[in-house]
Amino acid sequence: MERDVEYLKDKAKDIRRTIVRMIYQAKSGHIGGSLSSVEILVTLYYRILRIDPKNPDWPDRDRFILSKGHSVEGYYAILADLGFIDREELETYCKFNSRLTGHPTVKIPGVEANTGSLGHGLSIGVGMALAGKVDNRDYKVYVLMGDGEQAEGSIWEAGMSASHYRLDNLVGIVDRNRLQIGGPTESVMSLEDLSDKWKAFGWSVIEVNGHDIKELINVFENTPITRNKPTLIIAHTIKGRGVSFIENKAEWHHKVPTEEEFARIMEELA
Ligand SMILES: [Mg+2]
Repeated sequence: MERDVEYLKDKAKDIRRTIVRMIYQAKSGHIGGSLSSVEILVTLYYRILRIDPKNPDWPDRDRFILSKGHSVEGYYAILADLGFIDREELETYCKFNSRLTGHPTVKIPGVEANTGSLGHGLSIGVGMALAGKVDNRDYKVYVLMGDGEQAEGSIWEAGMSASHYRLDNLVGIVDRNRLQIGGPTESVMSLEDLSDKWKAFGWSVIEVNGHDIKELINVFENTPITRNKPTLIIAHTIKGRGVSFIENKAEWHHKVPTEEEFARIMEELA
């Protein structure tokens, strides 16, 4: 089904509310990076990815890997909304014996890889994309990375091999919110010029506003940008997007709102 931009915008609003509710109830979670990646996830899952929630292991499905595995709440909310898991299961998030742990695992239908130990997702994606080429299947592989995560050396090994193997069925996305747990990326471990770095590794690079669903659709629908080259999308976002007192604050990387803050957040996201 092809969903229009308005539908996706409404969905993004819903998902934001679910993210905050899950974190507040569990008293645990990564609120800043989850809120920054909502539009990316929503555009992929409700418009771009070729998937079938009733058949999560369908060999021709597109693959999505959440390499920034800590930003898991929006991911779970979407998997539940689409029917990969039951909605009620969201209530178990981060509870004892729940499948819905603070980082995703393949025990959950629809999850392609265990992630959260940063820097691994792109290598897994390279393997899946290469397998697709070898098997002559036309699926695509999408890997969402954090910008802080770009400091992991293994990302660049994966980047090098993806262009070596001409994996134009691979799309890397960087959630470029300019913050990581310890502060601004440019003071913790400077990344710029990030676009030039990826280009030097043989990728086609495009920069978008990661909250603009129209722009995201346009770029996703036009990958690969260059035949025989992997695509890297730098999605400029705001950490904590949607909540005035959380936006652009590194301390909200992993912080649980108080009762009063929770009420304020829900008001802002209404
Ligand atoms: Mg970040």
